[in-house]
Amino acid sequence: MLLDAAPEEHLYEGILYTTLEPCAMCLGAAVVSGVRHIRYAAEDGPTDARRLLLAHPLLASKNVALEGPEPLLGAFSLVLMSDWILREASDTAERTLSAYRVRVPGPVELAERWHRGGLLQRMAQEGAPLDDVLGAVQAALGSVRR
Ligand SMILES: [Zn+2]
Repeated sequence: MLLDAAPEEHLYEGILYTTLEPCAMCLGAAVVSGVRHIRYAAEDGPTDARRLLLAHPLLASKNVALEGPEPLLGAFSLVLMSDWILREASDTAERTLSAYRVRVPGPVELAERWHRGGLLQRMAQEGAPLDDVLGAVQAALGSVRR
C-alpha cells in the first residue's frame, strides 16, 4: 500500500481523494495514517463521515478537513459504479442498486439505461477520453439530480 511507503510529512500535506464518502473503517485508517484532508465525490447516506469525525474523540482531535460531495463528480462516479454493478451481475446487485436508486435515482437510472444500450462499454472499447464520458454524464443528467 502506498500509504505505508509514504513519508509521514507528505501525508499531512496531501489530500486523499475518494469517489465515495469514506466509510468508518476507511476514515479511521486514513486519519490514523496521518491524512488530514479528505475530499470525496459522492455521498454515502448511511456513512455520514462528518458525524463520525466528530463522534470519536481521537478522530475529532485530529482536525481533519473533510470536503464533499462534488455533485458532478459524484454523479459520474455513481454512474460508473452502477454500471460496474450491472456488469458484475452478482446475487446482491439488485439489492445494492435498489438502495442507491432511492438516494440517488438520476445516476442509477442513467447507468441502467446506458447499460442496456451498451454505451459505456462502447466508449471504453473505443478508448473515449475521460472528459467525453464526464461530458456525456453531465449532458444526460442536466443539472445533476442527486
Ligand atoms: Zn471503506
